[in-house]
Amino acid sequence: MSELSFAELGLDPAVLEAVSAIGYETPTPIQAQCMPALLAGKHLLGVAQTGTGKTAAFALPLLSRIDASISEPQILVLAPTRELAIQVAEAFTSYAAKYRNFHVLPIYGGQDFYPQIKGLKRGAQVIVGTPGRMLDHLRKGTLRLGNLKAVVLDEADEMLRMGFIDDVEAILAKTPENCQRALFSATMPPQIKKVAQTYLSDAVEVKIESETRTVERISQFVLPVYAERKLDALTRILEVEPIEAAIIFVRTKAETTLLAEKLSARGHAVAPLNGDLNQRQREQTVEDLKRGKKDIIVATDVAARGLDVPRITHVINYDVPYDTEAYIHRVGRTGRAGRTGKAILLVTPRERSWLRTLERATNSPMVAYELPSPVELKKMREEQFESQLLGFAEDKKLAKSMALLDEIAERNEMDIAMVAGALACWMEAMQPGSLPLEQPEALPVVSASAPARRDRKGGGRSGEFRKGPPKGGYKGRGGPGGAGARGKPPGKGGKPAGKRPPRQSDAKR
Ligand code: AMP
Repeated sequence: MSELSFAELGLDPAVLEAVSAIGYETPTPIQAQCMPALLAGKHLLGVAQTGTGKTAAFALPLLSRIDASISEPQILVLAPTRELAIQVAEAFTSYAAKYRNFHVLPIYGGQDFYPQIKGLKRGAQVIVGTPGRMLDHLRKGTLRLGNLKAVVLDEADEMLRMGFIDDVEAILAKTPENCQRALFSATMPPQIKKVAQTYLSDAVEVKIESETRTVERISQFVLPVYAERKLDALTRILEVEPIEAAIIFVRTKAETTLLAEKLSARGHAVAPLNGDLNQRQREQTVEDLKRGKKDIIVATDVAARGLDVPRITHVINYDVPYDTEAYIHRVGRTGRAGRTGKAILLVTPRERSWLRTLERATNSPMVAYELPSPVELKKMREEQFESQLLGFAEDKKLAKSMALLDEIAERNEMDIAMVAGALACWMEAMQPGSLPLEQPEALPVVSASAPARRDRKGGGRSGEFRKGPPKGGYKGRGGPGGAGARGKPPGKGGKPAGKRPPRQSDAKR
């Protein structure tokens, strides 16, 4: 993450206020590099993927440069898919939340023209759309670019792949000569370079590069999941993994608190760690994790910088990191002091292209994370119950409890097995937030090395993912479950003993 603050970058105060309300702590690397150039009115060529924070990298400075009181198109963003157009429009809306009478209008194919024309007539400062529909409006004269200050091509290589490049050029040709231009692309094929040379001469080039670094002793897993199923997926991971201590990474300060609250309601000993806490509170949280008073912390990258707690067996990337540097730092919070560790990354469909980049940067493959099947999970829960039960078989209070249950059985003419059964049902009902046995809906994952197949409708890709460990196994560890079954003694921290038996997939490896 960058050392600069958003305020130091020189953004408009209203934009700064919105960013602080959203809860972004510091600019991501791409933001720190792009914003000064865009704020200075320069053209920009950015090599960056989704997930790096690139939307804010162009939206925040461009919003800071326009006259928000003029209700005409001043910023135009071209995106390859309807989904991205909507996502970018939503981001702009949140960043411009403190401007009055401000409108962001998404326009894309497949939607009726009428509401779009109505929106354009009402007036909008920012238009985000797919190239074909944007061109239709320009030709009809319903979209006019006389006051345009900036145009952004987002995911230019995707637009090329989808056959939109001619439309994109036709739109660029209609933008005012003195208008600021930015182009973002994950790759730079020759046709994109040509567009850049023609329309973005003297552009400042920004590229987020990082050295390749081997992440030894840490096995890396990836679980693709829809954004709205992330919490279910995490709940399941926390149930089945042999976690001694874990750190969960999220993007915003607000999310650290929200997620920690949700996990706490599910019975975990968890605390948030973010930049809003003062030094003393932060130190206390880390101390609690070290001493086992807490088992999980939910942190932002900034707050977890340099964190060194040997008992962290798992790093869970609930939100993808902004760049490979951040990823390497995150996963390096486990596998400390010569131990092994496990890192699990949740990715949503749009973020899947990250996998290839991360594999390259860490020089090691990502393995598809397998959630246990309902049958496996049931077995696991039963075994866990048994081991917890046995843990109490030598309890000092056992004789007293047995006498009480005998009395209850006798008074109610019940079999002792029936009393035990009722007790087991009661215990199950007391488990907070226990999920049903079904899986959170996982996605088919795209292989980091499999050829991409376009899915025009969703704008995403699908394919097969490499299953199982890499050839030659993992460096410096017995298997990906590596943390081992470091269960806790019965009753410690009010949590189950023996955590769980080894998963079938661990045993296989
Ligand atoms: P993008 O790469 O633009 O798709 O952004 C990915 C995600 O990062 C979005 O959910 C943004 O809300 C979030 N994000 C962008 N900038 C920051 C930041 N400086 N701090 C925290 N989250 C951010």
